[in-house]
Parts: sequence; structure tokens; C-alpha cells
Amino acid sequence: MVFKKDIGSKGFLKKTSSGQRRDSEEANRFMQYTVICSAGALNMLFFGILNMVSGNMSLGILVITCCISLIFGWILVYLKKAEQGVYRLNTILFTILMIYLVYLGGEEHSKLLWVYITPSVMYFLLGKTEGSIGISSFLLFIGLYFLMQDEIPGGHLYGKAFAGRVMLTLCIISIITYFYENLRHRYRNQMEQKNEELKAENSQRRQVEKSLRESEERYRAIYQHAAEGILLISFSGKIVECNPQIQRMLGYREEQLLDKDIHSLFKAEDLIQQPSQLEELKNGKTVFIERRLKTSRGTYLQCEQSGKRISDRFIILIYRDITERKIAEEALEKANHMLQRLAVQDGLTGIPNRRKFDETINSEWYRMQRDKTKLGIILCDIDFFKQYNDHYGHQKGDECLKKVAKALSASVHRPSDLVARYGGEEFVVLLPDTTVDGCMIIAEKMRVSIEKLAIEHIRSKVSSTLTMSFGVAALVPEGEFNPDLILAPADKALYRAKANGRNMICSGEE
Ligand code: GH3
Ligand code: MG
Ligand code: MG
Repeated sequence: MVFKKDIGSKGFLKKTSSGQRRDSEEANRFMQYTVICSAGALNMLFFGILNMVSGNMSLGILVITCCISLIFGWILVYLKKAEQGVYRLNTILFTILMIYLVYLGGEEHSKLLWVYITPSVMYFLLGKTEGSIGISSFLLFIGLYFLMQDEIPGGHLYGKAFAGRVMLTLCIISIITYFYENLRHRYRNQMEQKNEELKAENSQRRQVEKSLRESEERYRAIYQHAAEGILLISFSGKIVECNPQIQRMLGYREEQLLDKDIHSLFKAEDLIQQPSQLEELKNGKTVFIERRLKTSRGTYLQCEQSGKRISDRFIILIYRDITERKIAEEALEKANHMLQRLAVQDGLTGIPNRRKFDETINSEWYRMQRDKTKLGIILCDIDFFKQYNDHYGHQKGDECLKKVAKALSASVHRPSDLVARYGGEEFVVLLPDTTVDGCMIIAEKMRVSIEKLAIEHIRSKVSSTLTMSFGVAALVPEGEFNPDLILAPADKALYRAKANGRNMICSGEE
């Protein structure tokens, strides 16, 4: 039974974790089996024929039959048809031979034992340790049987010496088989384990290599197709790599950029204002900066640069063309300036408007308060302007307003003086650090300049030309900003000037 079990477990179809390993092991076993079978078959054929020639037909036929069976078994194993069957056949033949030797064969035929015992025992060398132990036990039993020849009825033809030789041989074969098998298994296990480890390591390395390659390909693609220009520079500032986009942006070929000093691409003036950030970059700082890069045409490209150290030797610089953005920014800035100006400018006359006046009087209020000096104001209004419009039309009226604004503005010279359109045909003049007397002088100058314009006004009741009336006031501002404190007396003075006959100046102090 042990014998059978051994055969089964040592079959060629034994499954292993790796198909490849099973194949090679199977091939190895088959090779060994082939060698043993050939040796055995040749021996058997030789002895079979020898027996038949010497007239021992029954033994000759038996040996030849064993030989044919052995060859037939080999063919089945070769065809991978019946491994289990072959092992069983081997077992049966072996047993038959033993029985023959014990009961029928003579001492002179004992050599036959080696004919078949060789392939059979060697066959077990291929198997597992348990198999070897099993067959050894079986042979030991046979040996004991030889030794007990006196007690067995009918007896057999062998002497004790022969039985002793058989047993000794079998013991030696069994011991050798056991150790050989043990060693072989241990060695093979070790080899298999090493092989497995190597394979795992190999596949792991291949996996790592694959992901590295993929990652490299990914970054290469980004580098090649990025919308930004990319430069790789060494710590000394030499260009080591450049992507196609930076070549397109600057109009250089790759070989023209490689080995170039990065500083030669920067505008010299920019380098004075914004020195090279190479040191910061080398120290691992990320640097964002705007840079003008020299193109092959000699022009400069406005770029946004971001830089970062990527290893102990290299720095990556990424450039984005911001020319269009810069143009848009400048246009926006201009538009903003324009809007700011328009917001404080009178649309018709071009002089500051009421809003500008309100802003200025506020700041001047506090400035005069700090300086403890007078803030002067002149309110002026065109006389009989309604009649002018009615007579000459609005178009003429507008032209008139423009001329008046110009004349009034020309009458003040200090940078802090402000002439603004207050509304309709009314103007206001802010005169910081000016007393009422000073205001009177300016107002008179203005009145005369209007007269001098000599704009015909036949509907005016005070003159044949256009005139203006003026109300002035001045005070040292005190407390919170309150423009009425100065505007009200000026307004009152203007009212008086109107009431007293127009084309004149009245002051709030009168
Ligand atoms: P007074 O001498 O009392 O100041 O009389 P006036 O007619 O000048 O004053 P009034 O306030 O009665 O009329 C102001 C006129 O100014 C009304 C309007 O016809 C004219 N006016 C106001 N703003 C404008 C403007 O922007 N363009 C023109 N053409 N006329 C304007
Ligand atoms: Mg008016
Ligand atoms: Mg008026």
C-alpha cells in the first residue's frame, strides 16, 4: 500500500505553484526514467535471450515479457497517457519477479534480481522519501523470508549467504536512496525558493521599471506639449534642456539655446532692477517673477517666470508669454485713468466738476484747519444767462460756458487753487490760504477777464456783453467739516451782488 501511495504522490503530473517549474521538473524526471529504463531494458533483453538460448525457456519468456512491459510503460509515460498505470505495472512485475525468485528461480538465475531490481529501485530514487522507506520495508520483509528458509514448508532454492547479500544490498540501496532523496529534496526546495524569490524580485523590478518608464513618458509628454516654455538650467546658469515651446516663443533652435547662459536671455536693465534669483533658487526657494526674454529677432518677450530647484544640479524655469495680458493691463490702466479723470471733470467745459470740488474742499478744510489759515471761496454766476440762451440758443450758450470756464481758470495760478463748475452757469473757485481781500482781488480779475471776452449779450440788462457776478467768503475752518459754513456766506454775497445790479463782487463780510 505504501508503495502505491508513494507512486501516486511522485507522479509526473504533480501540481506545483508554477507551471513552468512543473514542466522542467517533469522533463527532468522523464529523462532520468528514460535512462534507467534503457539500462534495464537492455539488461533484461540480454538475460532473456541468454536464458532462452540456454534452454531455460520459461524464465527467458518472463524476462522478455518484463522487458516489453518496461518499454511499453515508458511509451505510455512518454505519451503522458497512464503514469499511474505504469507505476502499478512496475509494482506488479516486481512482485511477480520476487515470487518467481523465491519459489521457482534457482541460485544460478539470481543475477536476474539485479536486472529488474536496478530500474525498479532507481525508479524509487525519483520518488519521495516515504516511497523509499516503503519499498525498503517491503524488501526487508522478502529478505527475512529468505533467512527463515528452514521454517517455510516447501522451502526455496537460495542459500543463506545469498539472502544475506540481497538484504545487505537492499539496506545499502535504501539508506543511499533515503539520504539521496532527502538531500535532493532539500537542495531542490532551496533552489525553488531562490528561484521564486528571484522571479518575484524580477517581476517587481519590471513593474517598477514599467511605472518609471510610464511616468517618464508622461512627464516627457507634458514637457514636449506644454503651452509654457520650459528651460532646465544648471546651477551655473547654463541651459541644459529646452522644450519646443520655448524655442517657438523665442525663435531659437535647440542647439542655439543649449549651453547658453540664461542671463544672456534677460534684458540688462531688468537684471539691475531684479537681480538674478539663482542663489535663492539654488537654496530651494520657489521664485515667481516677471522677466523680459530676448528673442532671436532682438525684441523682448514679456514673460512670467516660475523657477524651482529639481535636483542637486538642476533648476527648472517655466515661462509663460504674458505680452497680451500686459497689453490688456495697460489698456485697462489707461481706461481707469480716463474714468478717474472723467469722474472729476466737467463734460462740457473740461474743468473740474462739482464732485472734484467737494473732494477738494474737504481735504483743504482740514489742511487750513491745521495751518490755521484762511480758506477762501468765490461763487460766480453768469448774469442773465437764461436770456442769453433764449436769444442765442443753447449751442451758443454752451460755447459761452466753455469760454467763461477757460477765462476763470486762467485767472488763478497757485497749484492749490481750484476752479470748478458748480452747476449750470455757476462756477466755484477754491482758494486755500487766501483772505477775503485776496479773494476779492482774484474775483475782480475774473470779472474783468469775462468782460474782456466781450461776448455779445444784447438781452443783458447791465451790459451789452456777457458779465458775471461774484460772491466771496473766507474763514479759518474750525471743527468738523461743514462746507455750508463757507458756502452759505459766499452764496449770500453772490445774491447781494445780483441784487445790487450784477457784474460786481460782494463779500461775505459786508
Ligand atoms: P441771473 O442773472 O439772475 O443769474 O439770471 P440767469 O438767467 O443767469 O439765471 P437763471 O438761474 O434764471 O438761469 C440760468 C440759466 O442758465 C438756465 C439755463 O438756460 C442756463 N444754463 C444752465 N446750464 C446750462 C448749460 O449747461 N448750457 C447752457 N447753454 N445753458 C445753461
Ligand atoms: Mg444761476
Ligand atoms: Mg445766472
